[in-house]
Amino acid sequence: MSLPRADALFRLHLVVGVALSIGCALMPAGLGHDALYTVISFGCVAMLAVGIRRHRPTAARGWWLVTAGVGVWACADLVWAVYTWILHISPFPSPADALYLTSYVIIAAGFWSFVRSRSGEGDREGFTDAAIFTVGSVLLSWVVLMRPGLEAAGDSTVARVLAAAYPMGDVLMLALLVRLLTTTGARSTAFRWLVAGNTLLLAADCAYQYTTTTGTYSGGIITLPWLLAYVSFAAAALHPSMRHLTDGGDEGQDAHFTRGRLIALTVASLVAPGTLLLQLALGLHLDAWAVALSSVVLFLLVVWRMSGLLQRLDAQASALADLARTDALTGLPNRRTTDAELERMQTRARGEGLPLCVAVLDLDRFKAFNDTFGHQAGDRLLVAAAAAWRETVQTARAGVGAGRAVMLGRWGGEEFVLLLLGHDLSAAVTLADAMRLSTPAGQTFSAGVACWDGLESAAEVFSRADAALYAAKSSGRNQIHPADPIAAPDSSAAPILVAEDRSAPGPAGP
Ligand code: GH3
Ligand code: MG
Ligand code: MG
Repeated sequence: MSLPRADALFRLHLVVGVALSIGCALMPAGLGHDALYTVISFGCVAMLAVGIRRHRPTAARGWWLVTAGVGVWACADLVWAVYTWILHISPFPSPADALYLTSYVIIAAGFWSFVRSRSGEGDREGFTDAAIFTVGSVLLSWVVLMRPGLEAAGDSTVARVLAAAYPMGDVLMLALLVRLLTTTGARSTAFRWLVAGNTLLLAADCAYQYTTTTGTYSGGIITLPWLLAYVSFAAAALHPSMRHLTDGGDEGQDAHFTRGRLIALTVASLVAPGTLLLQLALGLHLDAWAVALSSVVLFLLVVWRMSGLLQRLDAQASALADLARTDALTGLPNRRTTDAELERMQTRARGEGLPLCVAVLDLDRFKAFNDTFGHQAGDRLLVAAAAAWRETVQTARAGVGAGRAVMLGRWGGEEFVLLLLGHDLSAAVTLADAMRLSTPAGQTFSAGVACWDGLESAAEVFSRADAALYAAKSSGRNQIHPADPIAAPDSSAAPILVAEDRSAPGPAGP
């Protein structure tokens, strides 16, 4: 699949947008600066709309919300400029603040819409990681921006509310940025420009708040990241890859715990103790309440995250155990499971004084079947035979009394093993014969049945059943042979069940 390529408009937008932004940031504060600023901001809103109309994204809602948010933000810039240069009133506080704060919420809603469609249902890890990172950042923001901002705001209620509201808007944007980064969807060019826009916006806000609390804001180069944020959001919408921004990703297991994420989580978790240590060491004001509260929340989030990992681990372990127990082709218990089951049955047979028989089954002339109908038809026959036998065994199992157990497993290739606890030799032969008759597509098998003498090893009872199978094959196939008992090595035991001739492969595969 070829990646969507940037077109001329995208490149033109970037070149013009960045050049104008740098030019604007270098201009001295004044009407000209703010006029150009407003042109750039509304220009980018227009470019966002153009991008959406051109590329028709699969889910346009998030994109229109981002456009609306950036539009409200551009209006706020305009109001700010009008207050400063035309009305000659201080723009803080003013309706511009209400517009700025509204724009955060609208852009955040757009990002939320992206997050929802990019992450699969129950993306608990992504959510928790974003929450952990956000809580760490809230504490940092409180210590560095919010509390100093509140203190600098003085007694004016409006100033105090705004001093708290702006950093909260930033925290909201940061939370959504981190959450977007923890989604599983592809990190396309459009995705990267969106992330860049959000990061620039946060960087500019932090720089602005830091300068206003420590000195006076005088515009200049500090406005550059805001302008570039506009340009980046519009660049995201103008890139063709924006169309698939809202596509969910594969539930890649590895995507959930990369090294980068682990480092970010560690740093976020260390913000609280680190802050306290630094404040103690430098003799600064102690944010004891903030540190304690964020530690509690962080700790709970980490425990929640761990429990999610444990659940995932449990599910994977049991899925792996199932895989290790089962034969992939037929779904029957595999050789490993059959061996283990025989050992368990031996223990029970010894303890409860029950008979235990082992039947070894081998399809007749299966190589010829493969040669005639192909290996895949052979595989299908193995699957169909296993299913038919399983049904026969289940019917037989339903009729037996408590304490008895029957298990059919695939020994390997076209050889199968039947374990029968609580059945004597003749019952075992009868069940094996019922299976022989239920074999599909005219296929037949031969089998040898041996009953455990209570002393011999698993290998010994198997080798007696195998010898009986060999005898069944050499006596013409399509029959069940009981094994010689160990004590009386009499090899003249006749086949006790031979059916009508079914030894030729069927006319067609199953
Ligand atoms: P016999 O009656 O003496 O048992 O004849 P046979 O052709 O069945 O001989 P044998 O048991 O030695 O050969 C086993 C053949 O089974 C060899 C191989 O072609 C086929 N076979 C084994 N495993 C598979 C399998 O998983 N899929 C398919 N399609 N064929 C298999
Ligand atoms: Mg074989
Ligand atoms: Mg065979």
